[in-house]
Amino acid sequence: MVLVPCGGVNALLIACDFDGTITQRDTLRLIVAQYGSVEVWEEIEPRLRRGEVSLEQAMELEFAAVQATPQDVREFVRESAPLRAGFAELVEWAGDRGHRVVVLSSGFRTVIDSVLHEAGLGDLPVESHDAVFHPSGTTIRWSERGEPCGHCGRRCKRHDLGRHHDQEVVVYVGDGVSDRCAAQAADVIFARDDLARYLDEERVGFRAFEDFHDIRTALAEGEAA
Ligand SMILES: [Mg+2]
Ligand SMILES: [Zn+2]
Repeated sequence: MVLVPCGGVNALLIACDFDGTITQRDTLRLIVAQYGSVEVWEEIEPRLRRGEVSLEQAMELEFAAVQATPQDVREFVRESAPLRAGFAELVEWAGDRGHRVVVLSSGFRTVIDSVLHEAGLGDLPVESHDAVFHPSGTTIRWSERGEPCGHCGRRCKRHDLGRHHDQEVVVYVGDGVSDRCAAQAADVIFARDDLARYLDEERVGFRAFEDFHDIRTALAEGEAA
């Protein structure tokens, strides 16, 4: 992996998914399991993977059944979804080298901010949706992601990536369905779980990763190459 094709000092834009990537576990799934209906999730998720329902439809159905206060959810997530190892170190390394890290999530701002703030990473730019948690059911507030994406037809993370991109080499780090399109707009992809399986099937090159130490090491080697 050579990140500096011209021999100059190229800055990186490192775009990271949040759920299941920055966090070890998917906070949306944890919240649904704790406060919602597991039956709804189990019925919807296979249909989502087969493309029969959109991610947005699936999430609205699942979260309508989530009954909790915002405080409940934030406390629960901080306890049950620790960060994947090495993320804070990657952010620090990137800052020292003049690279930027942005968080592109299809999850919820109130949850993400709470987790990042707890980890001392509250200054990271975050693009996400948001949710209004309530004991009678949860309403999703969809973010503006412009017109439907020309590649996947959805309002997807590729739009957010484009808004943040300023000539840097783009590194994408993700694990799930909502990363598929944006990852393929990147110069370098680090993938795991569902995203890795998908890219394998599509014969798109990527690097597997266990934690962010792997990613920092690979990026540092790429710089030196
Ligand atoms: Mg994810
Ligand atoms: Zn797209």
